[in-house]
Amino acid sequence: MSDSPAASGTREALLTRFVHALGPAGVLTETADMAPYAADWRGRVRAEPLAVLRPSTSAEVAAAVRICAQTRTPLVAQGGNTGQCAGAVASVARAQVIVSLSRLNRIRALDAQNDTITVEAGCVLARVQEAATAADRLFPLSLGAEGSCQIGGNLATNAGGTAVLRYGNARDLVLGLEVVLADGSMWDGLRALRKDNTGYDLKQLFLGSEGTLGVITAAVLKLFAAPKAACTALFSVSEPAAAVTMLNRFRARCGDRLTGFELMSRPCLDILFKQIARFRDPFPTRYPWYVLAELRDTHGADELRTMVESVLDAGMRERHVQDAIVARSQAQAEQLWRMREEIPEANRREAPWVRHDVAVPVSRIAEFIERASEALRARFPGIRIVAFGHVGDGNIHFNATAAADHDAEAFIARQHDVYALVHDLVMALGGSFSAEHGIGLVKVDQLARYKSPIELALMQRIKGALDPIGILNPGKVLPPS
Ligand SMILES: Cc1cc2nc3c(=O)[nH]c(=O)nc-3n(C[C@H](O)[C@H](O)[C@H](O)COP(=O)(O)OP(=O)(O)OC[C@H]3O[C@@H](n4cnc5c(N)ncnc54)[C@H](O)[C@@H]3O)c2cc1C
Repeated sequence: MSDSPAASGTREALLTRFVHALGPAGVLTETADMAPYAADWRGRVRAEPLAVLRPSTSAEVAAAVRICAQTRTPLVAQGGNTGQCAGAVASVARAQVIVSLSRLNRIRALDAQNDTITVEAGCVLARVQEAATAADRLFPLSLGAEGSCQIGGNLATNAGGTAVLRYGNARDLVLGLEVVLADGSMWDGLRALRKDNTGYDLKQLFLGSEGTLGVITAAVLKLFAAPKAACTALFSVSEPAAAVTMLNRFRARCGDRLTGFELMSRPCLDILFKQIARFRDPFPTRYPWYVLAELRDTHGADELRTMVESVLDAGMRERHVQDAIVARSQAQAEQLWRMREEIPEANRREAPWVRHDVAVPVSRIAEFIERASEALRARFPGIRIVAFGHVGDGNIHFNATAAADHDAEAFIARQHDVYALVHDLVMALGGSFSAEHGIGLVKVDQLARYKSPIELALMQRIKGALDPIGILNPGKVLPPS
């Protein structure tokens, strides 16, 4: 193995090798061409890479990684670059290459009888959903960024989204993987089996590893029966505890027909209406909290509607619910979902936020929101808080920014004080400081703070075994050992 790129020769020599392996269209080196790959989704972490590599086959990914290994050039896998923890951008400027998976975007096979689809890592999530629909099946992973995030990124972050309640996280939707390892060799684990107890389940190592253990190039994903009936309802509740009560009512009455159950605080909607003009207040009265619920089934639209209305009627009689809309058309249901999905974008436009993506047991959500809000307001008077997220999964996005007339950047500079207040409480409630967004660059110190020494040591040992020279996404997930 030769020395680092700086020591072993010029950047030009390295780029020549990449061009030789990937062709000129596979290597970007101009600042303007690399700009879209150089900053995270929020534009808050920016570092120009040495080059952006755009392989179009798994073999080209392997060739690129092999050159990186031989020259000790660190590399960062990048999918749609919609991740929330700056995991897909370089951690050191002009010293790392980005490997963009965007051109590796074929659907390799769909086996309807086996209910599986085999896709390359760069397939945009919405395309996989469409391919499943065309075969009268469902690929259930669903999230606000689905028009641009890629399957490789979804699996590398073990994405959650709005249908976890029924179908699980991304990890639960994978049967097989193809992965390029740190030395450029390829592991073909593209098995389409629901049962395979032949030793360690290696794919689980790469799922959720955020590009630190290997580059995912393809996956076999599970498909499900396509729902033929859906019912979407938006309703108001006076407090988060009422939302949890209603979640349990829906579950008891509707079982696993309940696919989504999303909470939104009033400030989320105020910011949405201010930042994105096409949305209107759904009710004539303002309420402090709202829930968007969805039921799906393979038949019986009328039955679903009757069920939803009966649960909501009971909720109103018991004063958990004040007002409700049950969507009358697919278009109305989509409009309600778009409100929920645009909340992150509206927040991004509104202000910089200290953002928390936490999980607590569902039974402790109300306590978490109340205690975290009280603690932050006591420490930072006038602070603005938005809370929204996947109640059914115990996953709340809990974001804070300075009062409207205060300096938001000064507040962001105190991010670690804010994190400590919120995350200490989350841990005390038996929760997780990162429910679905991962660690990336921005939560490495939180991992160091909250993981036990033995967990950290195990993670370091796995990293050392799979990436002994440390070229895969350095600076992400793990603190320096
Ligand atoms: C509006 C909006 C809504 C969102 N809603 C949700 C939500 O509800 N639930 C949720 O979980 N997330 C959500 N996200 C976050 C984000 O969309 C997900 O984390 C998504 O899975 C990231 O996919 P990506 O292709 O953009 O990955 P990227 O951002 O490109 O990469 C994310 C991480 O994965 C690694 N990676 C990417 N591709 C590969 C690969 N092929 N092999 C190995 N490592 C790879 C990168 O190095 C990086 O560490 C949302 C984001 C936005 C912008």
